[in-house]
Amino acid sequence: MSQLVCSRTGDRYALDARRWQSEAGAPLDLDFRAGWVSGALRAGSPSMWRYRAALPIEADAHIVSLGEGWTPLIEAELLGRRVRLKLDHLMPSGSYKDRGASVLISKARELGVKRVVADSSGNAGAAIAAYAARAEIACEVFVPASTAPAKLVQTRMHGATVRTVEGSREDTAAACIDAAQRGDAWYASHVWQPWFLHGVKTLAYELVEQLDGRAPAGVVLPLGNGTLVLGCAIGFGELRDVGVIERVPRLIAVQAANCAPLEAAWRGVAAAAPAPTLAEGIAIARPQRGPQCLAAIRETGGTVIAVDEAQIVRALRAAAKIGLFIEPTSAVALAALEHVDCSGELVAPITGHGLKAVEKLARLP
Ligand SMILES: *Cc1c(COP(=O)(O)O)cnc(C)c1O
Repeated sequence: MSQLVCSRTGDRYALDARRWQSEAGAPLDLDFRAGWVSGALRAGSPSMWRYRAALPIEADAHIVSLGEGWTPLIEAELLGRRVRLKLDHLMPSGSYKDRGASVLISKARELGVKRVVADSSGNAGAAIAAYAARAEIACEVFVPASTAPAKLVQTRMHGATVRTVEGSREDTAAACIDAAQRGDAWYASHVWQPWFLHGVKTLAYELVEQLDGRAPAGVVLPLGNGTLVLGCAIGFGELRDVGVIERVPRLIAVQAANCAPLEAAWRGVAAAAPAPTLAEGIAIARPQRGPQCLAAIRETGGTVIAVDEAQIVRALRAAAKIGLFIEPTSAVALAALEHVDCSGELVAPITGHGLKAVEKLARLP
């Protein structure tokens, strides 16, 4: 049975449906040993559940799946750079967040939860609503009033109650936590609950299997709350620990310059006040797992880069020109490709579908 561990103090807690943070108020990690037997990647179902033995769900009957994962890995030349792109925008709900949502809602079912609440800038809420619908669990999603209409429509269509909150992304989280503490719902947070990260980690497993057991030199990832960065750190770390790969690839994290608290922290300077950005999916001014993200990136010899709005638009258009219709948030990682100092093989995930952001895209100059 896995245990919860405070990411700041190392204090340990037994699994309890009510707990979503440590006594110190910090996010929790999972002490979990991936049940890998042979050390080899095994072909199974054409979804991320092919790595069933590495996923922290006890009984198969609790798995909530829509066939997510096992997405294509294609080669491309983008902004003058050869790169492999992992097409995670081709997921049931249109973003990589389905990886996390599938494990998170499976855990909710395992805990016997009847109702979940979550807060999101859009994609996590849409994904959690979809999997809650699949599991017949009631769902309430708190979003900032500025959230893209497509993501709200999606969330409502799945039967979730949507609560729009005026103010910042932090105000939205506070409203949701308040609802979770007053009611009987499980706080299904993609930021606080470690189960989500253990779903996202399958991105690393798939990459290594698709590269015939190799790890790339570097992985370029958009960074907001850090679920992608930490999910990849966990996944590649587990594969290294069982001897499938020799070392974890460099994690190259990219923020939008208009909201780049972790890039500023990386350079050791104070963060500028956040300004609006096209990359709404990673506009997180106070990331709760920030210190963890920076430590994970440092451990891999990675780096944190910021790109401005013009660079994001340029990358978005470059992707569209080679046939990929993507969210502005996903273009953030691609915009960094020109600036990454790495001679080896690079992989970047396409994290969200362009159809999520048609209103914004229609207004581009
Ligand atoms: C959530 C999200 C990300 C990464 O966000 P983190 O907050 O760092 O986990 C990247 N792209 C898209 C489209 C997203 O929705």
